[in-house]
Amino acid sequence: MAHHKVKKGELIKAGRVQVLLDTFYARNEPTIIRTLDATTRLFLRLRARPVLRLLSRMLGVVFSTGEVVTTERALRFIDAISVLDTTEIAVGPCMCQKALNRRKGSYLKDMVVLYGAEAYKHAYPAEYEHVTPERARALLREFHDEGLIPTFFACLRSEGWIYAICNCESEICFPFRAHQAAGAVMYAGPDTVELNLDGCIGCGTCVDRCHFAANTMVENRSRVDLSRCYGCGLCVATCQGQARTMMARQGYRRRYYPLDLVGDAAI
Ligand code: SF4
Ligand code: SF4
Repeated sequence: MAHHKVKKGELIKAGRVQVLLDTFYARNEPTIIRTLDATTRLFLRLRARPVLRLLSRMLGVVFSTGEVVTTERALRFIDAISVLDTTEIAVGPCMCQKALNRRKGSYLKDMVVLYGAEAYKHAYPAEYEHVTPERARALLREFHDEGLIPTFFACLRSEGWIYAICNCESEICFPFRAHQAAGAVMYAGPDTVELNLDGCIGCGTCVDRCHFAANTMVENRSRVDLSRCYGCGLCVATCQGQARTMMARQGYRRRYYPLDLVGDAAI
């Protein structure tokens, strides 16, 4: 059965070549992650961060990079593709945990979508399982509660190459760590947090909840550095003072999250 990809806000059939290329990438992803992880650590040991940044930028043109979104936006994407056959969503192991043989929190959290579901199912028939849109929505909500970052991953920085919604954390996730070390791997999404200090009760939950260190406490009040906010929305749901909401990001540079497909309504 032919699977789909996004093109200009519509779902169209993906070509065989695209599926084959993604299957090849999927099969080799653990090796790619291990190699890049070792290379990153080596360059950091050599204090060669500029070289690492250049390498990251070059590889990011072709290889998989991520755009962070809120869980609400990830759910909207699932709604948009729920008109397709149920084989267009599958869930399998976190490729970073698998490749690096480390475990933390949920392991089955790699949600591959559209032609990506076909590719990963071909590459790992026993490890990936098709899930219904209802199950996908429930999982995304569970990952949100766990504090994982919904991130759309695509190759060639193109919405046509979106293949997965990864649910990242900051300790094992290679793209997250590579981005912290060299940049050009994860991009901020269409939303950013808005803080209403009148509601802040100084509980500090937002500081712990944010993987990007965007929040700090100053004189028992929260402060947010918007340049560090990637727009995951994780701090909003757990804010005990209800002092946080999401708003459209000023100067959002669209990467590949398919706004045209899901609708650009505010979160
Ligand atoms: S979680 Fe909310 S109430 Fe608590 S410190 Fe942060 S902004 Fe203030
Ligand atoms: S400040 Fe909130 S919305 Fe922004 S990156 Fe941190 S947790 Fe996500």
